[in-house]
Amino acid sequence: MSKIKPPRLAFVDLETTGGTATADRITEVGIIEVDEDGVREWSSLVNPQMPIPEFIQSLTGISNAMVEHAPSFADLADEIRERLADRIFIAHNARFDHGFLKNEFKRTGHEFRPSVLCTVRLSRKLFPGFARHNLDSIAERHRLQVTERHRALGDARLIWQFWQQIHETHAADLLEDTVARLISRPSLPSRLDAFQIESLPTSHGVYLFYGENDLPLYIGKSNNLRRRVLSHFSGDHASAKELEMSQQIERIDWLETAGELGALLQEAALIKKLAPTHNRQLRDNEEVCSWRLVMRKGKLQPVLATTDDLFFGHDPQLHGLFTSTRKAKDALRAIADAYGLCPALLGLEKHRAGKPCFSSQVQKCQGACAGKETVESHNERVAAALESLRLQTWPYEGAIGIRENGAVHVIDCWAYLGSTGTVAEARLLPQQGRQRFDRDVYQIMQKWLPKVSARVVQLGGATDEDPPPGIEITALPGSVLKESANDATNNAANDAANNATPDTD
Ligand SMILES: [Zn+2]
Repeated sequence: MSKIKPPRLAFVDLETTGGTATADRITEVGIIEVDEDGVREWSSLVNPQMPIPEFIQSLTGISNAMVEHAPSFADLADEIRERLADRIFIAHNARFDHGFLKNEFKRTGHEFRPSVLCTVRLSRKLFPGFARHNLDSIAERHRLQVTERHRALGDARLIWQFWQQIHETHAADLLEDTVARLISRPSLPSRLDAFQIESLPTSHGVYLFYGENDLPLYIGKSNNLRRRVLSHFSGDHASAKELEMSQQIERIDWLETAGELGALLQEAALIKKLAPTHNRQLRDNEEVCSWRLVMRKGKLQPVLATTDDLFFGHDPQLHGLFTSTRKAKDALRAIADAYGLCPALLGLEKHRAGKPCFSSQVQKCQGACAGKETVESHNERVAAALESLRLQTWPYEGAIGIRENGAVHVIDCWAYLGSTGTVAEARLLPQQGRQRFDRDVYQIMQKWLPKVSARVVQLGGATDEDPPPGIEITALPGSVLKESANDATNNAANDAANNATPDTD
């Protein structure tokens, strides 16, 4: 054994007004400092500056009257900081105590980043045969001497006794090793099965967090599942919302994928399917609309089309993807203003033939409504103004498979149908009718298709509308793009295909 100084320890317990670190406050702090110089106990009541709920008062015995004249956390902050400085912070369900202190220190303008050791996790590691690791169970199992249960110093004494006891029953190097592993790991919610965390792979994949009653909380993807999941518990929460989410997690599930593309596609599909409460970004966007340019009585006009539309994804005249008709109209108005187009001719407002529209009276519209510009010239400018928003049409004949490290992702008309292990299996995936355009998949593929086009396998274009092709083409790189009239949209894909180099295979 190496002769290193024994670590400086702080056994800590807090009482609070409730369970939420960002909203509730501390009512009592108990600290037991252990180091070369011995053992010192310290505790203080804290005025939480908010009322203590009745049931918490009866649980802890700490009443509103008791804390009324106690110092506030701000008064005690310096002393507590000094007592905890350069010590391993040891607590039972340490995320709770650490979270509260972190938030209290934040209110006083200080950072709090101790090395944290959770005795729930330590107990779980050392005594894996037991199901329960709460303080009462541990006290009973190890016959600890209970002084004041549910008071800060009383509970801190229990974990200090537990610590001493395991040092009598376990080999020192085993303990050192276990503690070192737990400390180096960010503090996980103690409810989570430590073994489940241990078995998290370091590969690409999608992870799912579940809360109470198995409610889906959050879905994310990563190139390293283990690292990403652990980062959620690192304690460096960017926001109160993130902290709140991490405290709600009861269970983790995950899905390994063959690569990054597979993870992106699965993530989008699962978010749509499970609608987790904390995924705002990718949620609710099945309702997508786009401006379709149509010729009406000689005037080129945008008309709203939704993804219910059978030809969405194949129509070369669609422009922009919007999550509401209001956003679509706002965007079109902004374009009209920027390009001096006539809102009346665009159909955005009512208009009597020959009369100048309101927009032309304030010099925004260039006057096509009042004959100052020909309708043909206006039509050309409408098409030009919207060109940059034009959606790429699905550039293949039917479904394709994209190979990625032994997986084949099947996509048709910007919709993800699933992943298989082989091209033969991919051909068996149901591909009936036209697929519903999926905005997430469209956006993922806009970025990825140029990179992966050399790994695309055409699966055949049979749909209800089209007769099945006589021959099934397993396309070679470069020859997979459909020859079609809408060159404007296919040129981009062609260029991309020509420039593409396979990346990770
Ligand atoms: Zn006008």
